[in-house]
Amino acid sequence: MSIVIVGGGLAGATAATELRRQGYDGPITLIGAEHHLPYERPPLSKGYLLGKEGAAAALVHPRPWYPEHEIDLRLGTRATGVDLGRRVVRLDRAAGGGEPQEIGYERLLLATGAVPRQLDMGAGPMLTLRTVDDSARLREALEPGARVVIVGAGWIGLEVASAARQLGAEVTVFETAELPLLRVLGREIATVIADLHRGHGVDLRLNAKVTREDLADADVLIAAVGVTPAVELAESAGLAVDNGILVDATLRASDPNVYAIGDIANHDHPTLGRRIRVEHWDTAKQQAKVAARNLLGAEEPYTRLPYFFTDQYDMGMEYVGSVPSEGYDRVDIDGPRDALAGDAFRAFWVKDDTVVAAAQVNDWDASKAIRASIGTSRPSGASVGASSAMASVLQG
Ligand code: FAD
Repeated sequence: MSIVIVGGGLAGATAATELRRQGYDGPITLIGAEHHLPYERPPLSKGYLLGKEGAAAALVHPRPWYPEHEIDLRLGTRATGVDLGRRVVRLDRAAGGGEPQEIGYERLLLATGAVPRQLDMGAGPMLTLRTVDDSARLREALEPGARVVIVGAGWIGLEVASAARQLGAEVTVFETAELPLLRVLGREIATVIADLHRGHGVDLRLNAKVTREDLADADVLIAAVGVTPAVELAESAGLAVDNGILVDATLRASDPNVYAIGDIANHDHPTLGRRIRVEHWDTAKQQAKVAARNLLGAEEPYTRLPYFFTDQYDMGMEYVGSVPSEGYDRVDIDGPRDALAGDAFRAFWVKDDTVVAAAQVNDWDASKAIRASIGTSRPSGASVGASSAMASVLQG
């Protein structure tokens, strides 16, 4: 059997790793459009952007690992088409020279990730942050005293604001919503994040419709307005696509020989009972492991709950779970919540007296406990209740 993986990011490279770990010794081709070895992106808005870590620290594996494990790694190579009937992937070899090529597969894994939304405000070029090259460019621009304007107070916008302030830049952030990350975190914790940034001297403009004039005096303009899943390949192949590649519980796409994982996958999550596309590090990594086993014939559903972490200034946060689209009833926060002062606390998002999501702030010993809390009953005014049957189902 031969396996082709399109997308040389964390998800693609982790899948190749797991295939070998499972003892699969057939051909694996890993195709990556970037010229860099597969790497992890979280440092690009944190340690790498701050100049505290080099790019090598972010690599999934050092260069020799790929030949040592007989992975045919094609960097600087873009897959431009898939013929599902003939089971071939077309490659654009323009970057490396030579003719376009076709490569056959028996199983195909798509891990093409996402690309940042661009913004053109007519006020000059706006930087975005996705790749190590983007981060290096940004790092050069973030000089002490530079006037930095960031559009979008999502994870990337806020982490860049944090790095820019630490590097001595003047930072203004424009956000259309009432609070940063309001949709993800809800009012209670979004307020903590807003206070943290304002406390660190960020000019945070909320409910703001940014205009060209707002950007006129900036030295550095950054668009941090989210990403779109890189679906062109899947779409042109005729796979079912709707906000990402539609995959079933086992991460299989609408063609039985094709799987999709990571930022690109719109997954029918069996325990959440709804579709979800997650743009986080842990999902890319963990889905890759399950998909690798399924490529080899297992029929394992992916049941792990969404999880993310963020570092901003001295604050570290982990969040696990998922609030349903109809929202939550309340958030219980144990302890003082001034992240600027370094407070450590836990938060529980509760729906129908059941914990649906939980977070820890500056309390890394709580990682296991917050995960274990998901699905437990938590009546109003009570501490976390005993595990319910729901908990064991939800924790995956
Ligand atoms: P990607 O990492 O996007 O990799 C996909 C790769 O496929 C890319 O290299 C792309 O060039 C390639 N590709 C696309 N199309 C083709 C094609 N046709 N042919 C060949 N190759 C192709 N998550 C967290 O949980 N916590 C964090 O703190 C955090 N910080 C982040 C900071 C930054 C700056 C960024 C950008 C992301 C961060 N994330 C974080 C999110 C996390 O990095 C992503 O969820 C993860 O990278 C997704 O992995 P992936 O392999 O699915 O996609």
